[in-house]
Amino acid sequence: MDKFLLNINKHCRGENKEDAPQTSGGGVTKRKCRKYDDSYLDFGFTMTDVNNEERPQCVLCLKVLAPECMLPSKLKRHLETNHRNMEGKPRDFFTRKLKELKQQKGTFSQQVSIPSNALLASYKVAYRVAKCKKPHTITEQLILPAAVDLVNIMIGESAGKLLSKVPLSNNTISRRILHMAEDLNDQLIEKIKGVAAG
Ligand SMILES: [Zn+2]
Repeated sequence: MDKFLLNINKHCRGENKEDAPQTSGGGVTKRKCRKYDDSYLDFGFTMTDVNNEERPQCVLCLKVLAPECMLPSKLKRHLETNHRNMEGKPRDFFTRKLKELKQQKGTFSQQVSIPSNALLASYKVAYRVAKCKKPHTITEQLILPAAVDLVNIMIGESAGKLLSKVPLSNNTISRRILHMAEDLNDQLIEKIKGVAAG
């Protein structure tokens, strides 16, 4: 479970990390904007937009590199050092990876619109409900209203309003529980594979 939550956290944080180093200093730094070229996909790179700036993104590890790295030599080096076994793969392979990435981005942006702490809270509650073997509807019916009451009285109404940001509807909770069960299943299979191989 902890490993799973850690993963969600990483996903959520990973989103904002990319644009952080960009906003340094107030001066007008004129950097030459290198343009993405379609041939860069041969090195496993696509292009992503960060603060209206084109930046190379690896389709294998999803890492977003600095705009300065928008050069065949730099991109090639990333592939060589990080994905040695993928070197020399046909373009079709990278095209397929790119397609997967785009699909992921689609589902990802839906998730990211929920603040990361609210998402984590939602999973924590779902986990408790599943652990106690209670029906998932208890969250919407009882847990959330009770939590809002508690917080309103003990802390203040602004804190109570904050709780409404935590996605806890019946459907959401049932989805979370299913998601966690699937993840557990995957982890178990990986472990069994590891034992069988080792
Ligand atoms: Zn990479």
